[in-house]
Amino acid sequence: MSRYEVKFSPRVISRQRKVPKIRRIADLLEEVYGPKRWERKVDPLSQLIKTILSQNTTDSNSLRAFQNLRERFPTWLQVHNASVQDVAKAIRSGGLAQIKARRIKEILVQICHQYADCDLSFLSGWPTWRIRDFLAQFTGVGEKTIACVLLFSLGRPVMPVDTHVLRVSKRLGLLPQEANASRAHHLLQAVVPANLVYSFHLNLIQHGRTTCKARNPSCKGCSLRRLCPAYPILLAPHDQREDATR
Ligand code: SF4
Repeated sequence: MSRYEVKFSPRVISRQRKVPKIRRIADLLEEVYGPKRWERKVDPLSQLIKTILSQNTTDSNSLRAFQNLRERFPTWLQVHNASVQDVAKAIRSGGLAQIKARRIKEILVQICHQYADCDLSFLSGWPTWRIRDFLAQFTGVGEKTIACVLLFSLGRPVMPVDTHVLRVSKRLGLLPQEANASRAHHLLQAVVPANLVYSFHLNLIQHGRTTCKARNPSCKGCSLRRLCPAYPILLAPHDQREDATR
């Protein structure tokens, strides 16, 4: 096991104690990375396709794929009318181009046939549970993708869990070590106050990218170290780490 994959069992704390801890973490993260205020950047259908393109690749690659797709086909109706091959060519930089192109096309076929203008803006008038059910019918659209559409495009307080959110939350003792992304989504959803979800989500990701990296986290300079049960463990010399977990 590598130094950074050290196993530990954070004390299980009650929901009542988790909520104030999350508020404190959110405050500290905002001090470091700045507050994040929600604003819609893209419409729900664009967000859905953008999130599909982000699966199993880096942010920069998926963004390039999304931009290429929009440049090559300025409307979703044009993507709907294009061949899978041409869509795959446009999104090649995002990886898994054939699979993603097929999924995007399937989604657009259903949406463009059912709704005028290939548009999902009407979802903003639906309750969250109904939007979840609607989006879940499409192949390749899982919990995280649905959460991204709900949070980023529709402003609903729903917590997407990506690799950074999962890792940092576990190290901070907010999640059990064995939690997968799906369980983590439900556990965090139950304890992160609705008004903090957007900022907490974005700042946790930023923290995971810049400080609490998968390998070699910068624990010494971390603003969360006093709240982090992994701090003494990750800093301890290898031969003392077992003691630190007790
Ligand atoms: S102290 Fe280390 S493990 Fe804990 S949040 Fe900070 S960087 Fe991550």
